[in-house]
Amino acid sequence: MIPGTNPDLTQVFKVLTHPARIAILNILRDGEHCVCHMEAHLGFRQSYISQQLTVLREAGMITDRRDGWNIFYRVVNPHIYAVLDAAQALTGQAPRPFPKPEVNCTCPHCSAKTS
Ligand SMILES: [Zn+2]
Repeated sequence: MIPGTNPDLTQVFKVLTHPARIAILNILRDGEHCVCHMEAHLGFRQSYISQQLTVLREAGMITDRRDGWNIFYRVVNPHIYAVLDAAQALTGQAPRPFPKPEVNCTCPHCSAKTS
């Protein structure tokens, strides 16, 4: 998609048909995160997460920022959460809480918090 344009409505729903992509969007609710953070909290392999991030980025729903060795991903437009919240209210499926407190995450954000 062209930067500054809105994602296509059908595209939005297509992207949301995948549980891993919904989980990734939910983990990005509290701000930008790197793949290693998603790996620790979602329990998916890094290559699998990268694959889903590509789909989300191509749909114009997330963007990334490089900081040294790390790439941080964030949601472009938080309106996506209104869509997710409405769907979750409709189905009675509350989002899983992220980040999981029991996970010992070594990503730059989490290790900065604990040190
Ligand atoms: Zn982390």
